[in-house]
Parts: sequence; C-alpha cells; structure tokens
Amino acid sequence: RSGFVGIVGRPNVGKSTLMNKMIGQKIAIMSDKPQTTRNKIHGVLTRDNSQIVFLDTPGIHKPNSKLGDYMIKAAESALSEVEAVLFLVDVADGFGGGDRFIIERLKTVKTPVFLILNKIDKIDDEKLMQTIIQYKDMLDFAEIIPISALQGNNIDTLLNQLDRYL
Ligand code: GDP
Ligand code: MG
Repeated sequence: RSGFVGIVGRPNVGKSTLMNKMIGQKIAIMSDKPQTTRNKIHGVLTRDNSQIVFLDTPGIHKPNSKLGDYMIKAAESALSEVEAVLFLVDVADGFGGGDRFIIERLKTVKTPVFLILNKIDKIDDEKLMQTIIQYKDMLDFAEIIPISALQGNNIDTLLNQLDRYL
C-alpha cells in the first residue's frame, strides 16, 4: 500500500518534530522552507507493507498573510488529492484563530482528516479529555489521536491507523 498524506497545522504545533520522529534522522527532510508550489514534500516513509509520502500544504496555515483566493483554492485542491490529512494542534496552547482558519479550509475537502492532539507530555489526563471534547465536534474527524511528537508517544498508533487509509 502507498499514498500521500498532508500535514497541516499552525506554526509551532510540532509538524517538523512529528516528521522527524516518523521518518527518522536517516532520511533527510527535503525542505522546510515556505514555497509557492501546491505541495512540498516533507519526507517519505517506507514501512514493511506501506510507503507514505508526507506533504506540507502552503496556504493552509498562514491566516495572517493576505493570501489570494488562488492560493487558498490551490491548498484546498491539494488536500483533496491526498489519502488523508493530519491536522495537528498543540494541546498545551489551546484552540486559536489559526486553528479556526484551517478547520474552515478542511470543511471543503472530502479527504479523511485525523485530529492529532500533540504535546500531551505538557498536560494531564483531565486537560486532555477537556481538549478532546473541545475539538471533536468542530469537524467530522476520521480519527482523533493524542501524541507527543517530542517524546514519541503514540506515533506507532498514528502510523498504523494511517496505513488503513492508504
Ligand atoms: P512546526 O512549526 O509545526 O513545524 O513545529 P516544530 O516541530 O518546529 O515544533 C515547535 C516547538 O514545539 C519546538 O520547540 C518543539 O521542540 C516543540 N514540540 C514539538 N512537539 C512537541 C511535543 O510533543 N511536546 C513538547 N513538549 N514540545 C514539542
Ligand atoms: Mg516546521
């Protein structure tokens, strides 16, 4: 099995950290600079029975810049062409306007969206429960997975769930 997976989330939620953890240091991450193309490849993960190409989607996480309709449409179109989207949020930081912007974009795509609650190492279980309740009805999420990208918690669960959507 193989497929493309988009990663979205506002700055500093842990997208690069998650990529490093999933792909490992051996394979260099190709680019982390903003660019104007539809999608930039973050990295390629080869597992026993699957291969996943991770894509960053410019235009989906820049609510402060004056993006033209074209960029937003291009981002939405790019997200329609992947097998699944990982929407990362920072559970310690809480819900913000940047999240709202992204959720509005995600509403226009039919692709399954995973809600990835990152940085669970920074909060207790009760706060995690509250955060899940806060986010879960904002979109029809295919999966909701709490992780710590930094410490590596639950990354295997995330990858095993992703395989099911390829
Ligand atoms: P990006 O802008 O979405 O790519 O975010 P980065 O991957 O650059 O991470 C932003 C900051 O959050 C860095 O200082 C990371 O070390 C930190 N970070 C990322 N994931 C976690 C996590 O699971 N737990 C904690 N405590 N910090 C994290
Ligand atoms: Mg980054």
